[in-house]
Amino acid sequence: MATDLDPNHRNDTSRNADAVPVIDLSKMSAEKRSAMEIAESAREAQWTEPSFAQQLFMGTFNRTLVDSFPRQSVEDAAIGDAFCAELGAYLTANLDAEEVDDSRTIPSTVITDLFAMGVFAMKVPKEYGGLGFTQVNYNRAMMLLASHCASTAVLVSAHQSIGVPQPLKLFGTEEQKKKYFPRFRTGTISAFALTEPSVGSDPSKMATEAVLTPDGTHYIINSEKLWCTNGPIAGLMVVMCKTAPKIVNGVERAQITAMIVEGNSPGIEVLHRCDFMGIRAIQNGLIKFHDVKVPAENVLWAPGKGLKLALTTLNTGRLTLPAACTGVAKQCLRIGREWGNERHQWGLSIGNHEAGREKLAFIASHTLAMEAVTWLTSHWADDHGKDIRLEAAMAKLFCSEIGWQVVDVTLQLRGGRGYEKGSSLKARGEKGYPVERMLRDMRINRIIEGTTDIMHLFLAREAMDPHLKLAADLLAKHTPVGTKLTAGAKLAGFYTGWYAKQWFNASLWERHDDMGILSGHYHYLQATAHRLARSIFHSMGLYQEKLERKQVLLAHLMDIGTELFAMAATCSYAIRLAGERHEHSSMTLADQFCREATKRIENHFRELNSGDGKLMNQVGKGVLAGEFSWLETGVQDPG
Ligand SMILES: Cc1cc2nc3c(=O)[nH]c(=O)nc-3n(C[C@H](O)[C@H](O)[C@H](O)COP(=O)(O)OP(=O)(O)OC[C@H]3O[C@@H](n4cnc5c(N)ncnc54)[C@H](O)[C@@H]3O)c2cc1C
Repeated sequence: MATDLDPNHRNDTSRNADAVPVIDLSKMSAEKRSAMEIAESAREAQWTEPSFAQQLFMGTFNRTLVDSFPRQSVEDAAIGDAFCAELGAYLTANLDAEEVDDSRTIPSTVITDLFAMGVFAMKVPKEYGGLGFTQVNYNRAMMLLASHCASTAVLVSAHQSIGVPQPLKLFGTEEQKKKYFPRFRTGTISAFALTEPSVGSDPSKMATEAVLTPDGTHYIINSEKLWCTNGPIAGLMVVMCKTAPKIVNGVERAQITAMIVEGNSPGIEVLHRCDFMGIRAIQNGLIKFHDVKVPAENVLWAPGKGLKLALTTLNTGRLTLPAACTGVAKQCLRIGREWGNERHQWGLSIGNHEAGREKLAFIASHTLAMEAVTWLTSHWADDHGKDIRLEAAMAKLFCSEIGWQVVDVTLQLRGGRGYEKGSSLKARGEKGYPVERMLRDMRINRIIEGTTDIMHLFLAREAMDPHLKLAADLLAKHTPVGTKLTAGAKLAGFYTGWYAKQWFNASLWERHDDMGILSGHYHYLQATAHRLARSIFHSMGLYQEKLERKQVLLAHLMDIGTELFAMAATCSYAIRLAGERHEHSSMTLADQFCREATKRIENHFRELNSGDGKLMNQVGKGVLAGEFSWLETGVQDPG
């Protein structure tokens, strides 16, 4: 019999989108409850297809979902090949990324030429004049662009991955599509405006108000939006606003609505162009909206759907970032190989000292893993039936965290030259490897499109979902006793079988011999998925409703799931590459990556039981209370 927990039965339509979620909010403070209600009502509650990652968290390593690593059709690959060849040649000839970084300017001629090539309409469907690229081809172009100039990549990505084109494609009406899509071939850059001075990761404090005029024809927007990438030059923006609240189940619920706003609307003012550590040429600003009049038909999807629209957009929008990080990692691999051979110290090339080899092994094996995760999730995004919420978040988390380490290791291998600007190296006659700029540019990826902490929380919420759904009736405050008893019996029945299976299962005898030198890693994956599911279950039992506050423990659990996903993707990708190239170097790299990932996973498991949390919490609390302020003396005021 199919249950909510059956991975093949995810089409849960029993709860409507406005229903209060399965989490018990009654014991939370009003502020936290409001934030949670908004976040919960914005979740996509339906799973239409089995999710590989969600099954992992429930103890199942479903090989069939990752075996036969997907590949592009010959026709689609040819489109991507031709476009990337043209784009690559153009960038080499026309875009000096060091100059862009120094001057904080992307030349307007380059932007014009990129428009002519269709770079700003890669994701726009062909019927509206766009290139209609698959996610794979879009990400191939973004990988190339990011490897050349991160500022230009962010300009294109903020426009196309989160700006107007993607939500318009997903949620726009036919009239809206006909009106706006063609503009992305003719010079209109778009932006996405959610963040405000008091609204970062938590949108519940949103101050931007859009008030409907008495005749219902327009909204009037007042607010300030912060860090809006492309905002200062945008012809169109998706602006997130608070609209009139709605009564849901007798309780007033804040409504967040997305609307398309013309960048030149009267009342829009750029108050400040922000300057950052990296991606220095992006046009990002603090933007004021003063009585900005927007036609009511510019609402995207429907009033109150704004946050859900943003989160759904990000589910695929977030995939650009892994591609961009992988592009940079590939550059690092090349720099590492060339410099590792070229530079000699203490009688050996630095790549041949063991410490150098360790760095090169890390860069190469983790670049393969980043690429595997990127292409697997990109292909899955093109397979529109697949639910990739968890996998996209894992790809973002994994590639931004590992990408940062890859650049840092590359900088270390370069020694003093790693810290010197590419333009300075070139000026004194050396190769202008821009590792210093790459490091500065890379750092933002751990913050935008969901910080690492927020990715952990997002994953944890989704990983717990099957358990929460099963226990929902039991936990709900006002459920009649009879329903609670039935729910209790159902729960006991399910968990008896499920829990036993987490100990006694096929991992005890299956060998995965078809995976060659990677068979041991597949076996580890299978066994560790069960161990992870047991750990999640034990943590739920131990901490119950307090588990939500055990963020460090949850982060370890989510990192284990993410590493397992990366291992599965990497092994499957390596097998495919080995088949295509008739040699096994990809298997060697995958083997190396899986050994590293296994060490990290075992470390996470150790941390779960280390008992260090109590002291860590005490110290953190003490810092806030000023207990250790004596340690801050003897230096200048940082402000
Ligand atoms: C270069 C750049 C470009 C950007 N582009 C855009 C854009 O185009 N459009 C747009 O709308 N926004 C944009 N942003 C904003 C970006 O999305 C936010 O910076 C991001 O959402 C985090 O918000 P915050 O910086 O206010 O951090 P906060 O939310 O204040 O968080 C600060 C720290 O606390 C952690 N934290 C927050 N909540 C929790 C929690 N519940 N539990 C544990 N830890 C928590 C965070 O992980 C982070 O480490 C951009 C920012 C930058 C710097």
